[in-house]
Amino acid sequence: MRLRRLSLTAVAAVAGLTLAACGGGGSGDAAAPPVAEDTTFEAGTTMARLAEAGSINIGTKFDQPLFGLQGLSGEPEGFDVEIAKIIAGGLGIEPENINWTETPSATREEVIQQGRVDMVVATYTINDARKERISFAGPYYEAGQTLMVRSDNTTVTGPESLRESGARVCSVSGSTPSQNILEYIDPAQLTLFDTYSLCADALRTNQVDVVTTDNVILLGFVNDSDGAFKLVGEPFTGEPYGIGITKGDVAFCEFINTTLREAAESGAYAEAWESTAGQVAEETPKLPELDPCS
Ligand code: GLU
Repeated sequence: MRLRRLSLTAVAAVAGLTLAACGGGGSGDAAAPPVAEDTTFEAGTTMARLAEAGSINIGTKFDQPLFGLQGLSGEPEGFDVEIAKIIAGGLGIEPENINWTETPSATREEVIQQGRVDMVVATYTINDARKERISFAGPYYEAGQTLMVRSDNTTVTGPESLRESGARVCSVSGSTPSQNILEYIDPAQLTLFDTYSLCADALRTNQVDVVTTDNVILLGFVNDSDGAFKLVGEPFTGEPYGIGITKGDVAFCEFINTTLREAAESGAYAEAWESTAGQVAEETPKLPELDPCS
């Protein structure tokens, strides 16, 4: 089903609009990303190890519509999942040979450092603090933090209104939005859960007044809310999404970046968007300029 598509920044302007209900994180009509054949990689590299194994362990979110949401099959669906499949495909690994691990925000660096996953594709903002523990390929998308409220809320108009209105704000432990929002609220106003779906539940049941995280994550919850939630205001941070890998694995980072560039050229990147988040969000993004690997 093709849904009405909304600009992420225009959503606030049409906040009263009831979005068409979307059943999940992806529509399931994604063309399978290409899987490379006869791949050869330099011995000793992560690529050679994974191609030889024919399988890969990938961390993603399981509760975020449009980016990573566990579907009826038990497999996650969404834009992050499609990006991960594109990278696995570059290694010659079929989607069914991906072992998915749920990686809530606070666990991501740890699971990479422990080697429990080979990479994390999970609405994962690139920043210096995280780079002390892991490395990032990408960015493959640029999001921005914003606010989600119940549709009948008229007191929250943007981050500057939060302190004065005494709004109870929910975000997720270990996330950048949970840190950024402290510039606008007193710590006592903030409730932290492990996942955004728990924040959305708390918003629905009136235990909090605001959920804050990246616009594209909130858009998925708005779209699934049957008109109960709306986005407020413009994005007030930049959240470049990277692919988390073992710290210092420059060759793997460069391989991922090359695979992303090729996917942008072949149309696989656009297809990944259009079959998932693009069902709701307007405008297929361009692959951002990639950071140098280190
Ligand atoms: N992009 C932000 C982060 O990496 C928020 C989304 C999330 O928690 O996954 O912290």
